[in-house]
Amino acid sequence: MSYLVLARKWRPKSFAEVVGQQHVLRALINGLDQNRLHHAFLFSGTRGVGKTTLARILAKSLNCEQGISSTPCGECQSCTEVDNGRFVDLIEVDAASRTKVDDTRELLDNVQYAPSRGRYKVYLIDEVHMLSTSSFNALLKTLEEPPPHVKFLFATTDPQKLPVTILSRCLQFNLRRLDLTQISEHLAFILQQEQIQFESEALTQLARAADGSMRDALSLLDQAIAFGGGEVSSDTIFQMLGSISQDQLTTLLDALLQQDAKALLTQAAELAALGRDFSVVLDLLLGALQQIATLQLVPDMDMPESLSPQLAELAKDFDPETIQLLYQIALNGKRDLSWAADPQSGFEMTLLRMLSFQPLTPSAPDTGDQTLKKSPSPSKPAVTSPPVSKAVSSEASPTSAREALKQANSGQDTVASPAAVPPAPEPAAEPVQQSASSAAIALNEPEPEPAAVQATEIDTETVTADTLISVDLSPANWTQIIAELKLSALTRQLAENSALIRTEQQAVHLSLSSELGHLATDKSRQRLQAALSKKLGQELKLVFADPTDNVQAGPTLAVERAEQAAEKQQRAVDAIQNDPAVEFIKNTFNARIIEQSIKPID
Ligand SMILES: [Zn+2]
Repeated sequence: MSYLVLARKWRPKSFAEVVGQQHVLRALINGLDQNRLHHAFLFSGTRGVGKTTLARILAKSLNCEQGISSTPCGECQSCTEVDNGRFVDLIEVDAASRTKVDDTRELLDNVQYAPSRGRYKVYLIDEVHMLSTSSFNALLKTLEEPPPHVKFLFATTDPQKLPVTILSRCLQFNLRRLDLTQISEHLAFILQQEQIQFESEALTQLARAADGSMRDALSLLDQAIAFGGGEVSSDTIFQMLGSISQDQLTTLLDALLQQDAKALLTQAAELAALGRDFSVVLDLLLGALQQIATLQLVPDMDMPESLSPQLAELAKDFDPETIQLLYQIALNGKRDLSWAADPQSGFEMTLLRMLSFQPLTPSAPDTGDQTLKKSPSPSKPAVTSPPVSKAVSSEASPTSAREALKQANSGQDTVASPAAVPPAPEPAAEPVQQSASSAAIALNEPEPEPAAVQATEIDTETVTADTLISVDLSPANWTQIIAELKLSALTRQLAENSALIRTEQQAVHLSLSSELGHLATDKSRQRLQAALSKKLGQELKLVFADPTDNVQAGPTLAVERAEQAAEKQQRAVDAIQNDPAVEFIKNTFNARIIEQSIKPID
């Protein structure tokens, strides 16, 4: 006995058996039962949604020997011949293979003759948009004055390509894609009839893969039955589609929530061992993240029954911005998957990247205030600038400027003690956090900077511009002002290595270490003096102290930068050494960190 594929065996033979498309069925049934029928019908819609099936049932309804009705008997000769594809007055044409005008002429030449057996001669032209322009013209003539015994049924996946003159002469029905429930319920029905064991989740997976097409779903089901040796289990389907179960998906999301790099990598390895398709897995992850995001924004939204209750729980635990971030990373990860050395490593890097760019939870170890700038987090409105401005508007008090910025950054609401000018924005934690990923495990380019961080920078700039004119030079703001001067190379070297001792009316007393004395040429001194005077809006005179005098001076920009670089380097080293993902890689591969290779990222 030969095996008849399910799509053919279970092709609906009556309108009652058709799944979905209720809007089309209602119109057809009414038309047939009231015998008010148009002479040309156009069924449009994506592949496998029932276009030709509906057309054949319509042809049967028109020609059943029991009379025209929406419920053809299915037993008379006409009905059985239509069902078996042998009815002489149903002329089926695949326009995709028959586009020449001669073919259409030949076809339409016979239109004039009465049907040989049935009531109507029915022309069913599939993929009608593929006809050539001259074929359309030939067809149009017939459509303008159709003989009463002729009906045209057109099917197309692409109605846009039909000439308007044809479209306007047809009654058009747009068939919809079938939803998950419609498909999986129909699959369950067929399997019950066929007495084949199945698991519901397997059918949901199949339905999802079918992407709205019942024919594709049935082909996949055929394949699954063959693959699973006569039964349809989730495991079989996951293997066949390279997909994963809801539980496995939830485990992944849970590890992301817990920021558990070890669990993530373990699961990736398991999925690889099972031969899962990581592109499909990323698709499922994207789907789950999208559902979580929807639940977070519209909690009372009707979600499909297939939604697992665990997702609803996760929607409560994740913060919405993190979900958006994870979605974007998953999307990029999917796009880049084919560029990765192999799919598994591409998938793993996507997961690790999701960890690297997530705001760390407050309980996470060893993060200190470094975490705060890392990425936008709704619970902490990230970097708040108002306290900085407040601090700056009062008069000078050297050491507290940085303190103020720090407190502002750490989200504390205390008004910092007054400060003259905020120092150059601290290279704070964000670069360090990124370096944690980039230095040690070579992540790709960093994601765009969080907007909040940029906001502070802008803020700092406007604040300094406003306040500097009225503020005197002091060791506290010296390096900041120097950093803002526009200077040529040599003068810049002089400026960066000079420290402020004090100011006395218009005189600015500076110190320069003796081994750098060569920087202080007449020209460079004049240029620095001019630049400073311009910057501060008053005529100043630079006085360099004798390097042998042991005077007390403030910091130089050069020293400060060196210190900052060292500090930044140390933070990068700390971040790498405390990174759980790095720790995991070290343990797994018996690896060690080459400390000199750690570089903070700007
Ligand atoms: Zn019949």
